[in-house]
Amino acid sequence: MSSQKAEKNTESPIPILGHFIDGKAVSDQRRTSNIFNPATGQITKEVSMAGGKTYEMASSAAKRAFPAWRNTPPQKRAQIMFAFKRLLEVHADEICAMITSEHGKVLDDARGELGRGIEVVEYACGISELLKGEFSKNAGPAIDSWSEFQPLGVVAGITPFNFPVMVPMWMFPLAIACGNTFILKPSERDPSPSILMARLLSEAGLPDGVFNVVNGDKETVDLILEDRDVQAVSFVGSTPIAEAIYKKGTDKGKRVQALGGAKNHAVIMPDANIDNAVNALMGAAYGSCGERCMAISVAVCVGEETGNQIVRSLEARVKALRIGPGEDTSNDMGPLITRDAYNRIHSYIEKGLAQGAELIVDGRGLKLEGNEDGFFVGGFLFDRVEKGMDIYTDEIFGPVLCVVRVDNLDEAMALINEHEFGNGTCVFTRDGETARYFTDNIHVGMVGVNVALPVPVASQSFGGWKRSLFGDLYVYGPDAIRFYTRRKTMTQRWPAGDKSEKVKFAFPSGSS
Ligand code: NAD
Repeated sequence: MSSQKAEKNTESPIPILGHFIDGKAVSDQRRTSNIFNPATGQITKEVSMAGGKTYEMASSAAKRAFPAWRNTPPQKRAQIMFAFKRLLEVHADEICAMITSEHGKVLDDARGELGRGIEVVEYACGISELLKGEFSKNAGPAIDSWSEFQPLGVVAGITPFNFPVMVPMWMFPLAIACGNTFILKPSERDPSPSILMARLLSEAGLPDGVFNVVNGDKETVDLILEDRDVQAVSFVGSTPIAEAIYKKGTDKGKRVQALGGAKNHAVIMPDANIDNAVNALMGAAYGSCGERCMAISVAVCVGEETGNQIVRSLEARVKALRIGPGEDTSNDMGPLITRDAYNRIHSYIEKGLAQGAELIVDGRGLKLEGNEDGFFVGGFLFDRVEKGMDIYTDEIFGPVLCVVRVDNLDEAMALINEHEFGNGTCVFTRDGETARYFTDNIHVGMVGVNVALPVPVASQSFGGWKRSLFGDLYVYGPDAIRFYTRRKTMTQRWPAGDKSEKVKFAFPSGSS
């Protein structure tokens, strides 16, 4: 029945995770996929892959729940969000342990992820203010005009493995707070936290059918895209899938925002505080085993001496990384998500060597006693990486940092501006003029100055440029209110008295 090969523990039956539809757990064992603990390499669960019948239950539930939820006062919706936030805090340890056991990231990192998700819920608690319309008194003689923002209906979210709690929360709290009903299709690699969040939303008082989780893979995603009742789709994942989902979804008349992959460059200027820059690079390149869409994967050093200092300092630090199971918070880095990811990273290391990059730190061959079957690698550091190399052009999504050396800031910025992706970037400098020039002219959606991971706060919005985002609106923050609502503009006139009025053939303007 299972769709992946694996070594199963045959002594006790493996639990099967189902779906959450219309306020209830739903099981469907038509086809399943294995969930691993990446630190041990063992299968811990299977997850059901929803087919047409199960998906139809979720779609119908979301459709049925919409009319009443749409008319629920925003303040009442906010109260449910407040209760949900409290429950997330109460269950924080359980949620973070779940993230670590299925994703592998270190517990402290899981806490950071949950914290960032909760911030979006907090933002959604202000929905009454955020949904306030716009009003123009005396838009014309005795005419008033106003706009309101109405929910779309049933909307869906499709999310990646690397933030199994935060990325779904980039979507559903605001979609629901705006009055939509939601179908979430989380990553099949670490879906358990989504089911737990669905249970907590119910406990917080969310009516049945407003939030549904259907587990699955491409088959389930196709059902979402074919579903005429789904008005909008938010997607986060790799660029080829993001592009395909954007094209198919928009062809079907849906509103789509599809966030894709990244190759984030950090520029280190000769005047930067090198120690601080190296500290920031370590966290941003190797935190979460490099499996972050905002991870820094290229360090562009301006000037040969800057390059020498950075590489010397990074070399020692990368060799000293503490690597092990995420439950031990003294570790800096946990395992990769899957054996496939492990193999992919190894193949990139071989390509980097074949194409002439200098491998300064080689993370291959790491064996951890007691975790021999886990998907662990050490940190990798390449120097003298050049534009045409695969390790420079492609998103590797692992703990691999490439150092590129350039002569000046313009050369560094040209590299970034020419790159396929434009998610995040940053510059390390002590010079305001450099920082201003960089932030003004760089073709990237999220830019840091002495901040390696410039992930916008919940009251801003998150998104990249170029092939890191297909669609116009970013996720969460003010853009989410626009994405999950449709503007309607009313114009009304209440002329005084009962005077008869003349026909006017001229196009009406504000003053006549
Ligand atoms: P992925 O593209 O493999 O999967 C993402 C989602 O799409 C999953 O739910 C998966 O089940 C589904 N999916 C996979 N193949 C599909 C197909 N052929 N058709 C339809 N749906 C399909 O991504 P991943 O490996 O889970 O996550 C890592 C990627 O996500 C990286 O590229 C990373 O940069 C990106 N990401 C981007 C952002 C961002 O904000 N731009 C944030 C997080 C992750």
